[in-house]
Amino acid sequence: MARYTGAVCRLCRAEQKKLMLKGERCKSDKCAINKKRAAPGKDPKARQGKRSEYGIQLREKQKLKRIYGMQEKQFSLFFERALRMSGITGENLFVLLERRLDNVVYRLRLAASRRQARQLVLHGHILVNGKRVDIPSSLVQPGDVVEVLASSKGFALVKEALKEVGKSGVMPWLEIDADNCRGKFLAIPRRNDITDLADIKEQMIIEYYSK
Ligand code: SF4
Repeated sequence: MARYTGAVCRLCRAEQKKLMLKGERCKSDKCAINKKRAAPGKDPKARQGKRSEYGIQLREKQKLKRIYGMQEKQFSLFFERALRMSGITGENLFVLLERRLDNVVYRLRLAASRRQARQLVLHGHILVNGKRVDIPSSLVQPGDVVEVLASSKGFALVKEALKEVGKSGVMPWLEIDADNCRGKFLAIPRRNDITDLADIKEQMIIEYYSK
């Protein structure tokens, strides 16, 4: 399946939830959800009518998949991996998603959105433990140092994104050295640590894939 390249705000409108796909704009008054824009489609009210159990589970899966900017195939592979791990599948899924390199770059505030972080990784601007890694889905390990390539540290988008560190810092399982565009993945987060996604009901996603 091709990667979605349309207007990303449509995805938020479809879920009627802020998926934070556009960086700074998401926090501004220009955000379509802040403006209470309706779901896309000819008859948005009909779409938001009573949903089947399957429909609710599907939407929950779509939300999480879109937040992390993943395609269906890759997301289901992550789910299968979470299923094979010991422990609670829903928590495992979150841990795997949080360990994705593009996500870590975004969480470290080296990019304003996961989409932007993915581009930085794909174009070779990111080093992990001093080595260039250009696979957005590669998993970061505790203790790994993630940084912007020396020649890319002056990028305006990186500098702009890093301003967020001064406003709201980084997640507690990360450490950031904003002056050097470098951060560390300190530890594997627990589900409860991922507070900005507390409203995602992972049990529904498990039920969706259990059918
Ligand atoms: Fe979603 Fe951000 Fe667009 Fe708002 S601005 S609708 S949060 S992508």
